[in-house]
Amino acid sequence: MTNNIITSTTVHLDMDYEINVVWLKRDLRLNDHEPLSQSIKSGITLLYYVFEPLLIDDPHYDERHWRFVWQSIQDINIELAQFNTRLYVYFGDVIDGLNVINSSFKIIGLFSHEETGLLATFDRDKAVNKWCKARDIPWVESESGAVSRGKKNRIDWDKHWQNMMKAPLSQPELSSSTLVCTDDINKLTEPALPVSWSIPDDFMLKGGPVWAQRTLQSFLKVRGKSYNFDISKPMASRKSCSRLSPYLAWGNISLRQFYQTILLKRSQVGWKRPLDALISRLHWHCHFIQKFESEHQMQWRPVNKAYCDLSYPELHMGISLEERLTKWKKAQTGYPLVDACMRCLEKTGYINFRMRAMLVSFLCHHLLVDWRLGVTHLAKYFLDFEPGIHYPQFQMQSGVTGTNIIRVYNPVKQSQEKDTEGLFIRKWLPELSELPNEIIHTPWELSPMEQQLYQFNLGETYPLPIIDIKETGRIARDILWGFRQRFDTKKEGRRIITKHVRVTNKTDKNKRLKPIKSKVNQ
Ligand SMILES: Cc1cc2nc3c(=O)[nH]c(=O)nc-3n(C[C@H](O)[C@H](O)[C@H](O)COP(=O)(O)OP(=O)(O)OC[C@H]3O[C@@H](n4cnc5c(N)ncnc54)[C@H](O)[C@@H]3O)c2cc1C
Repeated sequence: MTNNIITSTTVHLDMDYEINVVWLKRDLRLNDHEPLSQSIKSGITLLYYVFEPLLIDDPHYDERHWRFVWQSIQDINIELAQFNTRLYVYFGDVIDGLNVINSSFKIIGLFSHEETGLLATFDRDKAVNKWCKARDIPWVESESGAVSRGKKNRIDWDKHWQNMMKAPLSQPELSSSTLVCTDDINKLTEPALPVSWSIPDDFMLKGGPVWAQRTLQSFLKVRGKSYNFDISKPMASRKSCSRLSPYLAWGNISLRQFYQTILLKRSQVGWKRPLDALISRLHWHCHFIQKFESEHQMQWRPVNKAYCDLSYPELHMGISLEERLTKWKKAQTGYPLVDACMRCLEKTGYINFRMRAMLVSFLCHHLLVDWRLGVTHLAKYFLDFEPGIHYPQFQMQSGVTGTNIIRVYNPVKQSQEKDTEGLFIRKWLPELSELPNEIIHTPWELSPMEQQLYQFNLGETYPLPIIDIKETGRIARDILWGFRQRFDTKKEGRRIITKHVRVTNKTDKNKRLKPIKSKVNQ
């Protein structure tokens, strides 16, 4: 391979040479990477990743996330080794890491993708911007996916999505680039990382671009054929859904790479239906992140401000708020599908969309707990935690948008329909494994005789239901529909639709001021 690698024999640190820094964030890959492509075109490049205590200590994150990132870095380093370079990995504050680099080299450009993140990362980016400005270092940020910064509405948003997704991949020409060599990177201070991150967890998907490709190929080989049939089933979806979400969330694969690969497969017999269903979800991916990008206050208040008045009782059905929340978190609600989902999530970092929606509905509707008290708990468990999808979805499922269909899920009905044979429940609640199919969804209906037969002590082997969902479902519907009728809810709803609902043609554009129904139900 003919590349122009700077080796320690040709360049020395004391020469104080000028470099560009590519700061990897949630874009842990070397393909379809605009900041990397731009940087290597304009100068010597060093790739930089920072494990930030700011995020490591944040309640949204868990060790599972940093292990995934660590694995991604190892994977990238294997690819970089052929170019005699590696990522410079810092553990600490981003600016401290930049100062370390800048004390050995002269940074003349910083390149990264735009990040639609939590308030913490927004504030950190402001500090980085200030640091760059003070040193006259241009910071060039590229758009992530099809999410535009500073967008006031959705006019032509779909067109933009199509343009971005159909554009050629931005492939960095690493073989003809100039990269800071490993020997020089080795001379920089590099704080040690927690050892536990390097210990694999076989229950979770493994991070890295290579694993992203393997997962995608296995989906397109056979798994994906029954995508649209299995998507709502907690057990079958684990195989039939793409499972690309952590790879997209941490950027091991770009949405465009994913989309373009799917398009190639779509024309093959039997693949159109499942892949069309998947493609619409790739739109949603950006749609939700765009929503969060344009309205980041969603991290701490309902997007529909009228719901700020919605109060959640300290005592509901005689149970304190703390106990309701704790039982939900600890998988002790007494509703098998709810508890099985929580246990599965804790162990594997994944459940499918429908089960996520049901968990939120159970918390906010049946247990009447404010969504804000549960949002970080699930973020911590989701290996694919993506702030821009998580917050809008959480609010939508809890019913505080005032624009989406109100769905109060009945966990027994979901269980009977989506896990009819109780396979998922048996796997995650082994204490129920001996119960027959007809009773596994409602163990509280076991007669004393049946309890003896299955050696099952209601309330001991498995908890009694924390609340009666018939009663709580009715209360929740009354509250939510009551709120929906309010003048301020409707007014805010119109504002939300005008700002966040996609406009695709001229007629739609003319109707914008009087939209009634949101196009976005998922
Ligand atoms: C309360 C709640 C919180 C959620 N939080 C997250 C999150 O933090 N990160 C995350 O990636 N997804 C989140 N989702 C959306 C969805 O559940 C997951 O994207 C999906 O289950 C991931 O599995 P998959 O990759 O096999 O999906 P597939 O069905 O194979 O879809 C492929 C990709 O499309 C995107 N996608 C699919 N469904 C949705 C959707 N409903 N909304 C937006 N994008 C979608 C994802 O990027 C996904 O990886 C959340 C859903 C709910 C109800």
